[in-house]
Amino acid sequence: MKMSYIIEKKRDGKDLSRDEIEFLVRGIAVGTIPDYQISAWAMAVYFQGMSPGETRDLALAMAYSGEVIELSAVEGVKVDKHSTGGVGDKTTLVVIPLVAAAGVPVAKMSGRGLGHTGGTIDKFESITGFKVEMAHPAFLQQVSQIKAAVVSQSGNLVPADKRLYAIRDVTATIDSLPLIASSIMSKKIASGAEGIVLDVKVGSGAFMKSYEKAAQLARIMIDIGRGAGRKVVALLSNMDQPLGNAVGNALEVKEAIDTLKGQGPPDLEELSLELAAQMIFLGEKASSINEARELARSALKSGLGLVSWKQMVEAQGGKLNYSLPHYGLPEAAIKEKITAGQRAYVEHLNALEVGQAAMLLGAGREQVRDIIDHAVGIELLKKPGDLVEAGDTLALIHANDPGRLETARRQLLRAYRFSEQAPEKSPLIIQLIS
Ligand code: URA
Repeated sequence: MKMSYIIEKKRDGKDLSRDEIEFLVRGIAVGTIPDYQISAWAMAVYFQGMSPGETRDLALAMAYSGEVIELSAVEGVKVDKHSTGGVGDKTTLVVIPLVAAAGVPVAKMSGRGLGHTGGTIDKFESITGFKVEMAHPAFLQQVSQIKAAVVSQSGNLVPADKRLYAIRDVTATIDSLPLIASSIMSKKIASGAEGIVLDVKVGSGAFMKSYEKAAQLARIMIDIGRGAGRKVVALLSNMDQPLGNAVGNALEVKEAIDTLKGQGPPDLEELSLELAAQMIFLGEKASSINEARELARSALKSGLGLVSWKQMVEAQGGKLNYSLPHYGLPEAAIKEKITAGQRAYVEHLNALEVGQAAMLLGAGREQVRDIIDHAVGIELLKKPGDLVEAGDTLALIHANDPGRLETARRQLLRAYRFSEQAPEKSPLIIQLIS
């Protein structure tokens, strides 16, 4: 088989056969196909798209291009979730313990953040001592014992995606629905869970800016997952404004713990409960989605979700002190208020601008090798719909560096838009696609 023929076929809008896709993915994974041919093929896909069958074949071939996580030693229906990424999205930290408390095992592999969106592993690493690397037998044992574990994605998982993503990143070919869907789903399939709940974010702070594209992405990912024998549902959720009030690693961990104590922001609680309910339902611990919603709510209200959180943190070596206001998480040296200039409604709070402000403080990475500061971030004290008086605190910036604080402050101010009338409320959960 010749790579030049595969490129030509895709360039001319023809479907590739499964054999051709497997040849291509093997060549990407082992390095026998050079970067320039891979990028030419990715650009052809960008313009010509892929059929559902080709997309499923690509995702499956990528999923099996490296290590595949074996979870059969853990009893029960293992479930996983994936968020397409947003600002202030700490739902995984709340959802894992709620689902575990309902008796459904979650063996979670997560990534680090890049750009303005945060990564779950970075958030957990703001807890002193928390280990995100674990040998596979210990990982399985922890999931069997306490139903929950979170580790950083194995380096050998889906090597074809690692190389292809790096090439797409520098050849303007990230923004292709079949390539995004197969990239995400190959990693989910290789991670071994039988049930997968997708949280596809829509809005200014999300990868998908429009409802139509997000819904299309969700449908392609569901099709891939089902083609691989997995149960998959997707929620489309709003990411025009940050989720919850905290943006920045340690601040988000604190907010997740507050939420598990029943003292979290309503939007974070609402989305976490719905994601947890969908996972509990896929995990076959409830005979209807409404019963699953009850189980998720009761895990939160009874405090059993918080008990699961404490067990997981302790099992992974994390040290927190729940009697302290910040639970012993790292705190920034400077806290600066941003205040309102006049009486008005907060009309809009742009998630992308807030995420970029947090990144400027050092909460996120511009390059993979950047070191992040877990303590810094932003507390949003006023959100869209709130009426503010002149002098009210809109947000609190947590910084460790006065120079970074100043650039982040200017950036954060760009995120706000005010109006004299109360803005219309947009729904947080837009649609369930199943
Ligand atoms: N996230 C992924 O894992 N892959 C993509 O292609 C885009 C977002």
